[in-house]
Amino acid sequence: MKTAIYPGSFDPVTNGHLNIIERAAKNFDRLIVCVMMNGDKHPMFSVSERVDMIRRVTEHIDNVSVMCSDKLLADFAREQGSTVIVKGLRAISDFEREFQMAIINHKLNPELDTMFLTAEHQFMYLSSSAVKEMARYDADLHDFLPQVIIEEFKARMAEQI
Ligand code: ADP
Repeated sequence: MKTAIYPGSFDPVTNGHLNIIERAAKNFDRLIVCVMMNGDKHPMFSVSERVDMIRRVTEHIDNVSVMCSDKLLADFAREQGSTVIVKGLRAISDFEREFQMAIINHKLNPELDTMFLTAEHQFMYLSSSAVKEMARYDADLHDFLPQVIIEEFKARMAEQI
């Protein structure tokens, strides 16, 4: 069974993330979406809220599981019996950091390779931080966030303004 891991902060999960999840899930027997706990120290949503939101938006995809980890990705992958990390690439600006991370992860775990999926053109500009910025100005979020999390996202935004 070929298992791949799609790591990120997903604060919150966007339509761009979901597009990568749907495409990656078609190419592996199992896809683990992993909320990495070692990034942003001031996330908008807690790890369990982010895991829960990703579960809700991926309910229709049978071979997706959602987890979280505070370990090194190279170690988490080993534990899960996975040799593939999936990443989305939006623009050249993503490339340098992702290239560096891929080499480091391969160095830490030589069994582990990183595969890149290019963002679809309609999501190339989309990031969790861009969604937060748009929400601040009350933009319509339907093209950017999965429908089932929009109300929860707006409610949290309102608390923070
Ligand atoms: P961000 O906060 O920038 O949205 P994450 O850490 O949550 O980023 O992203 C996890 C992964 O998803 C990364 O590989 C990132 O490049 C990818 N990704 C994020 N947004 C998109 C998008 N709109 N299209 C394709 N890949 C994306």
